[in-house]
Amino acid sequence: MHACYGTVPYFRNDKKVKNHDSGALRVEELEDAEIYWGKYIQGENYPEEIKALKINKPIPNSSKICKQSPFLSENELRMIKGRLQNANLISALKHPITLPSNHLLLKRIIYDSHEELFHSRVSATPTQIKEKYWTIKCRQSIKYTLRRCIICKRLKYFPGKQSIAPLPATRTVIILSSYGY
Ligand SMILES: [Zn+2]
Repeated sequence: MHACYGTVPYFRNDKKVKNHDSGALRVEELEDAEIYWGKYIQGENYPEEIKALKINKPIPNSSKICKQSPFLSENELRMIKGRLQNANLISALKHPITLPSNHLLLKRIIYDSHEELFHSRVSATPTQIKEKYWTIKCRQSIKYTLRRCIICKRLKYFPGKQSIAPLPATRTVIILSSYGY
């Protein structure tokens, strides 16, 4: 989750862990950052759903994730059971992290995947995203983000044909005089 890596130094400062103030990022720090941002974003975007799930009440029918039979995992990070819910896997692999389709973090995650896939087309990105995250209209979010990729725009650019403009009158006089006209 490269999009969260930039926040790790702030966690280091907050915790005042002097032995780990510099150097390579540790796996636990990356996981902490992922959990922190996942919960923060879900809390901002699904407050009613989380409130209801905490007290085992049905979530509002108006909720965008109502049809996904949401639940709340032990660390309150995962809300969608996902397609692998019956597999013999740990919770992190079975249940994707729910992110709203228009959130900046999701766009960053999509872009990171796009870069890892060497700016390949839209069709290559959803598999990588869906392994870990769930969002409404995933494909549209990917298309929206990749349409704004400057590198892809540059790669698609072909220089146009340059039309030759007529010479200004002053320059034609100089040329004609050199031929003795
Ligand atoms: Zn690109």
